Amino acid sequence: MLNIVLFGPPGAGKGTQSEKLISKYRLIHLSTGDLLRGEILQGTSLGLEAKKLMDQGQLVPDEVVVGMIENKLSANPNSKGFIFDGFPRTTKQAEALDAILEKFKSPISMMLALEVEKAELINRLLERGKVSGRADDANELVIENRINEYNNKTLPLKSYYQAQNKLSTINGIGSIEEIFGAICKSVDALL
Ligand code: AMP
Repeated sequence: MLNIVLFGPPGAGKGTQSEKLISKYRLIHLSTGDLLRGEILQGTSLGLEAKKLMDQGQLVPDEVVVGMIENKLSANPNSKGFIFDGFPRTTKQAEALDAILEKFKSPISMMLALEVEKAELINRLLERGKVSGRADDANELVIENRINEYNNKTLPLKSYYQAQNKLSTINGIGSIEEIFGAICKSVDALL
């Protein structure tokens, strides 16, 4: 199995690059942000609770997202692999993911970390907010919160995967195709 953690701050291009990766390598896309927005659309109690935190740019509790990921992994036992997009976002989530994947005997193959500086992220998210309809993209204060959450709680995961020799950093500035080219080079080196 090819299991890729696609990592980077909000606005780094994880969603865009995930779409291209899943079609080229026939993987299943697992985005906890998309799963949570699905719960909100369905009006579930989980969705309602999560929305309060998401609208403020804060992370939802680890147990909530870990549970969602475990369900999706169990539901797709014969997949060629998964792209984890926006997950894990804390060390606890990364440890839980390793434990779940241990059961499936298919560990994380690599972390691809997209690197983009803060001013560019804010511009991209404000632009996306004009069309995405996402409340958390439209407000600069919420965007700041999301980037702070990333820096405080998520960034340490780079060292977590580096310690396992699984980190590959990618320059996230450039055209979508240029960035995808760099990503594919890293992935193909592993195959
Ligand atoms: P995203 O679509 O990945 O930008 O996620 C949007 C929002 O959903 C985040 O700002 C968090 O509030 C929440 N969220 C998504 N994934 C996670 C996660 N793995 N852990 C905690 N909160 C998450």
